Parts: sequence; structure tokens; C-alpha cells
Amino acid sequence: MNNEWKLEIAEYGALRICQALLDSLAAFCQLELSQPESGGVLVGKHLNSGGVMLIDDFTPPQLSDKQARCSYYRSEAHNNKVLDKWKESNGHSTFVGLWHTHPEATPNFSAQDRKDWINALKNSVYEGSRLFFIIVGQTHIRCWVGQKKGSISNIELLGEYKIISD
Ligand SMILES: [Zn+2]
Repeated sequence: MNNEWKLEIAEYGALRICQALLDSLAAFCQLELSQPESGGVLVGKHLNSGGVMLIDDFTPPQLSDKQARCSYYRSEAHNNKVLDKWKESNGHSTFVGLWHTHPEATPNFSAQDRKDWINALKNSVYEGSRLFFIIVGQTHIRCWVGQKKGSISNIELLGEYKIISD
């Protein structure tokens, strides 16, 4: 199984997102009224060939997160999970972005999401100048790229992926 969602980014290269990761994230999609927002961190690898970035792992919601129907708070517990993954992979797997779910078909980021993403771009530790942000809606997953250019942070929609439910 080598299925991937591939996105081309100008002045950067190819972003590849593993099908298995998309399936795992889609499992958190909020189809039932009782399901709260979920979220976590995206873990990926900076590649030397065959693309520039491969996102192939994530952290699921942690007990210390706060999950409600229309809000999600990501706790510090994710940082330790990412550190474990980094160590286990000899420094290949690292923090490359954030994900969360929304109770809407095709998701759009909220003002709070934008604030959270810009805060991550400005204040978190990562390689390069870009982070990736995924929102899992009820029928589509959307992916944005954020780029830090000096004091300005830019957020751009890269594409959307239709969730095939079985
Ligand atoms: Zn949101």
C-alpha cells in the first residue's frame, strides 16, 4: 500500500500525505451529534528525494486535552508524544503541523484556529519555515500550509480530500 495524497507547493516542492494517516484522521470525523472535536499534532519527515515532506504520523487526542462539540484545546501532552516519536525514529520523524476536526462538511478555519496556527508558526520549534494544518470535516479533509516570513505569517489553502466512508 503506497497510496498518498500529493500536493504541490510553489517554491517548496511536493507534500505527500499517507493514505493510512488520512484514514486514521477520518476516523475522528464528527458525524454524530455526540462526537466532540478531536485534534493533535502532525508528525512527518523532511525528505531528500521523492518529495520535500511526508506526513505519515500523528498524535491522537490526549486525556489532558479539552474536547467539546465546537471547540478543542490541545494540551502539552502532545509535545512528549512527539519527542518519543522523534527519538524512536533517530530524529527523522518530527513536528510538522497540527490537525483537528470540525462538525461541518467542508471545513473552514475559525478566527481561533488562525490564531492558534500563527502562534504555532511563531512560537513552536520546527525545521524550516513552514507548518501544515489539517481540518477533518464530515465529508472533506482540508490542508493548509502556513509560512513564517520574518514577523509575517501567511496561511494558504493547499487542497481538499474527499473522505470515502465504507
Ligand atoms: Zn477549528
